[in-house]
Amino acid sequence: MKIICVGRNYAEHIAELNNEKPENPVIFLKPETALLRPGEDFYYPGFTTDLHHEIEVVVKINKMGKYIEEKFAHKYYDEIGLGIDFTARDVQSKLKSKGLPWELAKGFNDSAPVSSFVSKSSFADIGNINFGLSVNGEVRQSGNTSMMLYKIDYLISFVSQYFTLKTGDLIFTGTPQGVGAVNKGDVLEGTLEGETLLKLNIR
Ligand code: MG
Repeated sequence: MKIICVGRNYAEHIAELNNEKPENPVIFLKPETALLRPGEDFYYPGFTTDLHHEIEVVVKINKMGKYIEEKFAHKYYDEIGLGIDFTARDVQSKLKSKGLPWELAKGFNDSAPVSSFVSKSSFADIGNINFGLSVNGEVRQSGNTSMMLYKIDYLISFVSQYFTLKTGDLIFTGTPQGVGAVNKGDVLEGTLEGETLLKLNIR
């Protein structure tokens, strides 16, 4: 499986990092070894002193496809969940300033914790779902999928022009504003429509 991530998909998050609004979706990959399954702890890596949380809605691909038309994209996923796109912001800033790829800052071991997944049929409108992240009980990020610059079906279509999607692939759809540092001992909780779906201890 592969983990496909979308960057800069929420206007207010683009602004908080002083990035430009992209002409096309910003896409990057994390390796399979980035996946951290529900219930497992996250261990703060030694190569960063500025690890940031980015809570994101994650789409699980349910069948193989490429060159998918946007109007058929909804057939390629049944479930959504939450994930954290952990980012070593200090490492990323250094790489970005030199115009280098981000992988070391984004794709390291366990950098993609995910929640359990829920059927998309349990939501009235996939394009209007509230989600958020609290750290030690304090809300840090809250967003709604209606605020995405590029919507889920468009993203599936776009990505599939380049990468064949396979069963089990995950698409991280971008983070809303409020990203910030986490520390050892923190407890992160991700909510989807008010329900806690993800809980993660930082060790
Ligand atoms: Mg992200």
